[in-house]
Amino acid sequence: MGASSKFLFSIRFCRDKQKGRDNMIRNKELEAILDTIDLRNDAPAEEPMRQYYFIKKAREIVNAESEKLGRRLTADGETFGCQMNAKDSEKLIGILENIGFEMADDESADLVFYNTCTVRDNANQRVYGRLGLIHSMKKKNPHKKVALCGCMMQEPSVIQKIQKSYSFVDLIFGTHNIYKFAELIVSMYNSDKMIIDIWEDTDKIVEDLPAERKYSFKSGVNIMYGCNNFCSYCIVPYVRGRERSRNPKDIIREIEKLVSDGVVEVMLLGQNVNSYGKNLEEPMSFAQLLKEVEKIEGLKRIRFMTSHPKDLSDELIEVMKNSKKVCRHLHLPLQSGSTRILESMNRRYTKEQYLALAHKIRREIPDISLTTDIIVGFPGETAEDVDETIAVVKEVQYDNAFTFIYSKRTGTPAATMPNPAGEEETKENFDRLLKVVQETARSRVGRLTGEVHRALVEEINEHDATLVSGRLSNNTIVHFPGDESLVGKIVDVKLVEAHGFYYIGELMSY
Ligand code: SF4
Repeated sequence: MGASSKFLFSIRFCRDKQKGRDNMIRNKELEAILDTIDLRNDAPAEEPMRQYYFIKKAREIVNAESEKLGRRLTADGETFGCQMNAKDSEKLIGILENIGFEMADDESADLVFYNTCTVRDNANQRVYGRLGLIHSMKKKNPHKKVALCGCMMQEPSVIQKIQKSYSFVDLIFGTHNIYKFAELIVSMYNSDKMIIDIWEDTDKIVEDLPAERKYSFKSGVNIMYGCNNFCSYCIVPYVRGRERSRNPKDIIREIEKLVSDGVVEVMLLGQNVNSYGKNLEEPMSFAQLLKEVEKIEGLKRIRFMTSHPKDLSDELIEVMKNSKKVCRHLHLPLQSGSTRILESMNRRYTKEQYLALAHKIRREIPDISLTTDIIVGFPGETAEDVDETIAVVKEVQYDNAFTFIYSKRTGTPAATMPNPAGEEETKENFDRLLKVVQETARSRVGRLTGEVHRALVEEINEHDATLVSGRLSNNTIVHFPGDESLVGKIVDVKLVEAHGFYYIGELMSY
């Protein structure tokens, strides 16, 4: 399962104190390039020079608008969905800041973008709900601009609906051309019509554009885009296109830059990282890439997501086992414990193959934590199929599992499959599964009580400012007394009490 399905939260990109202050291309480097660009010339054809040209052009527009208003133009972005979208939004914000927008944290801003998700129907409904609210704001503030992007925009029916019912939207673009944001902003300010620029697919990966990281000490790094798997319920291959791997040199260069800016942990991102590198000119496996990333001095932790069980190699298990930096956590989406349903989902593994893999991983890396995704209510699923899923959960002993009720996505093969389970039966099955998942997770998480572990301190606790929240290598959260000065540091914490899915701890040393 791609990372897309398990994060249905929405993230507002408020400008917090911990954000990364530098860009993938550093501000100084970018400014030096912009100085050489003469806007009287036509825009160059090649990337990223073309986008640098439009960043400079957009700056002129934003400066002129700001002068008219007597204040800096503000922008706000809201991200729905997975970590891939969160990463894309960092790029969009990096471009906006370089253009001269001041990032705000509410939708009254002069420019608002929604980076959308379409993995479940309720994600779409939330976006329509927000558009209703933003319409009334736009009526009071006609110079306000509204931009929509992300997976939902790759669906033709969505575009038709927005054209018909939300004609006040100024700009719509998709998942393949976010690198063109500066160019699209210029078009948007030069037009009073809705600009729509959606590509069906692309083989293009544009490097060296600005990005604004949310945290100074950790960062997501795209290693590939798209997915070739076509699981029958999933819309991702249709909206994110075919697999395209980034060149390893570009990935390493980006991580080295991040580390020199203070990043200690990276999350390598892809819908199916285990098939990384297959389409490169010089093919390279994901395990080989991990070995290269491991060599980067100063980098302390490596995470990755998401892994498809059918592509998880012995080589990868070996590299993880011997690594000092790859975190002791593997997210291994199960989706169903019934081979019959797995086949209908087009997952291309059986229950037995999955179990053999999970056991091998636990045997080779005993301290690893395993998490998963499970769908309940897939067309044709019976209570007996769910019993099989529950049996797998008990056998594998997941540290956590993200459980979802099947959501029909128009355009996928599963959408036309007959015999969806009734709502009541699905709810019952879901509750039965959830109970086992919670019991298993509670007993797994509690097993480290009393031990001392390294934790990367990520933030001041949201509910109690006397506590900080850190993440163990195995991805479990620990809250313990501390202050702002610890944020971004890797410290030793004693895990004093287990509370369901997290620990309360005590700082030992750092
Ligand atoms: S098609 Fe399958 S592997 Fe690809 S993103 Fe969707 S669920 Fe994940």
